[in-house]
Amino acid sequence: MTHGGMLTWSVFSLRLKHVFTIARGSRSVVPTVIVQFSRDGLTGYGEASPISRYGETVETVGGFLERIGPELPGDPTDIGAVMALLDRMSPGDSAAKAAVDIALHDWNGKRTGTPLWKSLGLKPGGKGSTSITIGIDTPEAVERKVTEATGFRALKIKAGVRLERDIVRSVRKMSRQPLRVDANEGWKSREEALDAIRWMEAEGVELVEQPLQAGNLRDVSWLRERVSVPLFADEDFGREADLEKLEGIYDGVNIKLMKSTGIREAVSAARRAKKMGFRVMLGCMIESSVGTSAAAQISPLADVIDLDGSLLIDNDPFDGRVRPDGTILLGNEPGIGVRGDLA
Ligand code: MG
Repeated sequence: MTHGGMLTWSVFSLRLKHVFTIARGSRSVVPTVIVQFSRDGLTGYGEASPISRYGETVETVGGFLERIGPELPGDPTDIGAVMALLDRMSPGDSAAKAAVDIALHDWNGKRTGTPLWKSLGLKPGGKGSTSITIGIDTPEAVERKVTEATGFRALKIKAGVRLERDIVRSVRKMSRQPLRVDANEGWKSREEALDAIRWMEAEGVELVEQPLQAGNLRDVSWLRERVSVPLFADEDFGREADLEKLEGIYDGVNIKLMKSTGIREAVSAARRAKKMGFRVMLGCMIESSVGTSAAAQISPLADVIDLDGSLLIDNDPFDGRVRPDGTILLGNEPGIGVRGDLA
């Protein structure tokens, strides 16, 4: 193949079904950037869901895409070379890079008529299924959300705030579904985290994500010696190169396309993490079905699937691989397997 193809993008406002509150704050609308790569009459879709926690906004995504487009610099069939080029242009911009990576994977899948999972040599074994997030809310709202989440295999609770025990109690009043807890760096000290986690262990919590502010690895080690529930790094884990510093400190890592610059590095990070003995969680941001379907394609690599981003919104312009009941459906649709458009 030769050079080129056109990259275009547009900003789309994802509307949340419920106001979404985590330890860092609340949101009811989340802007996302949908990228299209077109060539030879085929269009591949990608998505960048920028997170200010990682220094990205729709403006920085647009700025980065403007620097590389509208003509793709490089061979669209050689995604590794294109991504290496993007990494040379900037050390950050991970979500913007992910959008390009996803669009190229989708386009190549359509070009060859192959679903992404198959071209990556993965086998969808059994019925994959995502957890669903219950954000921080009043007991009444939590009970309503738990009722809506009855069919899901597991629930993910957002913690790291004072209300967290009330939330767990409200959930447990309604449901015995497995509970995962994400503190989003919210506990202020290792002692506070220890106290909260011990209480949650008694409630049957199966894992805890990012208990403390990222960078406090010594305190995470201290914590891990004192609790039995597995601890997963999210804000402490960005890209594959971070695995080394987390070895022996965390039990697992939360890999997200928006942090890993897309599918290519997420796959190699997941494989390396498993070899190093980490458990692998596959996560997402608030995203349309473009982002969550791309991640769903590599879900056979994950021990824990947390791809509910597109289920938390009520205006998803796409129909994809994470079904409304949380099931991950990997069939023979080419590329990332989405249908729909922004039009
Ligand atoms: Mg998290």
